[in-house]
Amino acid sequence: MSADRSGPVLVLILGDQLSPALSSLADRHPDDTVVLMAEVMDEATYVRHHKAKIALVLSAMRHFAAELREAGWNVDYVELDDPANTGALTGELARAVARHGARGVQVTEPGEWRLRQAMEQWRTDLPVRLRVLPDTRFICPLPDFYAWAAGRKELRMEWFYRDMRRKTGLLMEGDKPVGGRWNFDAENRAGPEPGATFPVPPHFAQDSTSSAVIALVQQRFSNHFGTLDNFCWPVTRAAAQALCMHFINKRLPHFGRWQDAMVTGQDFVFHSLLAPAINLGLLDPLDICRAAEAEYHAGRAPIEAVEGFIRQIIGWREYIRGMYWLDMPGMATANHLDAHRPLPDFWWTGETKMRCLSEAVRTTRDNAYAHHIQRLMVLGNFALLAGLKPAEVADWFLAVYADAYEWGELPNVAGMALHADGGRLASKPYAASGAYIDRMSDYCGSCAYKVKLKTGPQACPFNALYWHFLARNEGKLGRNPRLAQPYANWRRMSEEKRTETLASADAFLATLEPAEPGWARQA
Ligand SMILES: Cc1cc2nc3c(=O)[nH]c(=O)nc-3n(C[C@H](O)[C@H](O)[C@H](O)COP(=O)(O)OP(=O)(O)OC[C@H]3O[C@@H](n4cnc5c(N)ncnc54)[C@H](O)[C@@H]3O)c2cc1C
Ligand code: SF4
Repeated sequence: MSADRSGPVLVLILGDQLSPALSSLADRHPDDTVVLMAEVMDEATYVRHHKAKIALVLSAMRHFAAELREAGWNVDYVELDDPANTGALTGELARAVARHGARGVQVTEPGEWRLRQAMEQWRTDLPVRLRVLPDTRFICPLPDFYAWAAGRKELRMEWFYRDMRRKTGLLMEGDKPVGGRWNFDAENRAGPEPGATFPVPPHFAQDSTSSAVIALVQQRFSNHFGTLDNFCWPVTRAAAQALCMHFINKRLPHFGRWQDAMVTGQDFVFHSLLAPAINLGLLDPLDICRAAEAEYHAGRAPIEAVEGFIRQIIGWREYIRGMYWLDMPGMATANHLDAHRPLPDFWWTGETKMRCLSEAVRTTRDNAYAHHIQRLMVLGNFALLAGLKPAEVADWFLAVYADAYEWGELPNVAGMALHADGGRLASKPYAASGAYIDRMSDYCGSCAYKVKLKTGPQACPFNALYWHFLARNEGKLGRNPRLAQPYANWRRMSEEKRTETLASADAFLATLEPAEPGWARQA
């Protein structure tokens, strides 16, 4: 007996697809559609996400379901604790197709390779036709990115960014960049200033939906990393909009200048905190850029701040996503520098005498957030210099940040931070000694190590590790023209100094305790 397939079309909406303008809804009418949303254990645990990230996604999903219902959609929402919940998207989709006698399924393409693969399997396994639609919430469609990349020897973000400026018209006067330059990064490298004050982000009171989700996460994911004590992320479109206005009014004017600065106890500096909301679909990236541009034209924010911010969104964010789909699945296993050291335990506990790293892990645990320079030049730089295994580092980054989805996380980790892609993303590794961290932060003054010392047990570990990194990778990096100066300096050092430096780094590396397996990904 064949099942009745005259029912509605089922639109599956994933946890990071919380936008009313989603492509999978665009050609549907509520009369003939059931929207399926499902909280499944597999998605919460394929890496063991930070508790605050799980709470954010589940609460935002529940609020979005309510928003859709208010707009007239018929939403079939499966909660995590539903006794019939199979724990997997595949199982929930199959159950819903049968439950509604659906005549077809449609879905917007996912942000992760593993789910794209699962969808290919659904094409075979589902008894009805599956339509996978492009994710139009990104500004650069993937075919356009592939066309941009085709035939280029070097895929540098800067050239992509200029094309995106032309395409969107943002900060353009005809075909010329506003202010006469494309990029004002040189003005955006100020270190912290003593006595500087920073705006306090808005606090969003928890409604009953968020409180219920937080209680659920406390109970079901108590052994995951991180705390819920400071849960601060917007879970509705209105709250995300309020955070965006806070950024535009209070943070944007100073965004560029202090973009790279790190200050003890100031977890957000002048950063926007918008990535979690943008990545979930609560905010439209182009709208935010237009709002920022308007601040420049109104004379309320300087060009270096506005250009710097817009570059992050239409440049870096779009470029990173394009590179992910261009280079997957190879990007996930790339290990150009043959780095095999296990992730140290202190990446989870924060228990290290290195002040910069203990601060980065602390804010990560407290907020599911660390800003870009903490991710790149403290955590990423350490992982690069110490030769940590890219796959373990990637799992950690994917698990701990509220904004982490593989399309955004993996290229930043494997490409930008670890040079595991052999330089597809960055023409040279972002390797730096303690001097960089000292210049851009106030950490070193209260660190147990001495940033000015180069070797020995009291010396800042970044100093000897920097040379250790260059020395052990000389075969792969020694001819990189952008590293000519550091390699010349290394070769100019006396044999004795070089030996002492390498021994100092080795002695430090020998102290690293590997993390227990299973913290990020169940064994
Ligand atoms: C190792 C590493 C891992 C990262 N993992 C992620 C991730 O999983 N998801 C993610 O969205 N971003 C990731 N980033 C990029 C960036 O650090 C975060 O987007 C940013 O810190 C989020 O905080 P914010 O919203 O306050 O950003 P802001 O500093 O205010 O920047 C504004 C916006 O620009 C975008 N942006 C800036 N830089 C990047 C970038 N390199 N890649 C993508 N978007 C960018 C984000 O949407 C961000 O909200 C990572 C960076 C590094 C170095
Ligand atoms: S001295 Fe070195 S380890 Fe300590 S905070 Fe500075 S850079 Fe980090």
